[in-house]
Amino acid sequence: MVIQTMPVLFIGHGSPMNAIEDNEFSQAWKEEAKEIPKPRAILSISAHWETRGIQVTVMPKPRTIHDFGGFPRELFEKQYPAPGSPELAQRVIEIIGKEKVLPDENWGLDHGTWSVLCRMYPKAEIPVVQLSLDRAITPAQHYELGQQLQVLRQEGILILGSGNVVHNLAMIVWEDTVFDWAMEFDSRIEKCILENDFIPLIQYEKQGQAAALSINSAEHYLPLLYILGAKEKGEPIHFFNEKIWGGSLSMRCIRFG
Ligand code: ZN
Repeated sequence: MVIQTMPVLFIGHGSPMNAIEDNEFSQAWKEEAKEIPKPRAILSISAHWETRGIQVTVMPKPRTIHDFGGFPRELFEKQYPAPGSPELAQRVIEIIGKEKVLPDENWGLDHGTWSVLCRMYPKAEIPVVQLSLDRAITPAQHYELGQQLQVLRQEGILILGSGNVVHNLAMIVWEDTVFDWAMEFDSRIEKCILENDFIPLIQYEKQGQAAALSINSAEHYLPLLYILGAKEKGEPIHFFNEKIWGGSLSMRCIRFG
């Protein structure tokens, strides 16, 4: 059987409420799942699992982690019982190198992963593995990990980066507005991607004030670097949910392939 190359996805996940709210963002995630081939398994790099050293979930039954506060009970009761895939986890360890990756039995699926996947694949039948964000490595090294993982796309694996390309919760406002710096940096990301000019995106720390405000804590941005790394040359680029929410949160989603 020939498995076609899977696309690679970055999802701007925003509020955990998108898991249970039918809105333009969650609707578009659902539609996106219909647009792409059904994956054999999913490897998710979520903003919400930061570690020192790289870790990968190896358990057959990952728990649903409710890693947020102040939301309605319905959200805390939400479960996403997708199986894990010890097989995919082993493959990731083999690709990155067993001296560099620790198998993890404790984490599970955090809301960066399940709030999106419960919309894309509500039956939770596709196995999911999470790869942690190692905060001890450089942005260029995150990008290189994405390049290494690219090979999984030929094995029916969907590589999913879940974060927000512009994300500054300290600046967020509860109204429908957009800050100039957020708009500026979001547009710059779009332009760089369309021009295949990834260096400024990897070297985001050198890109001035709009970038610094947009990536103030970086964990929501770094999953993007994996997706850029996993892109093949000349692939189609598709953007959706191109909207900035609450002034400082870009919901932009990106598909390559
Ligand atoms: Zn988040």
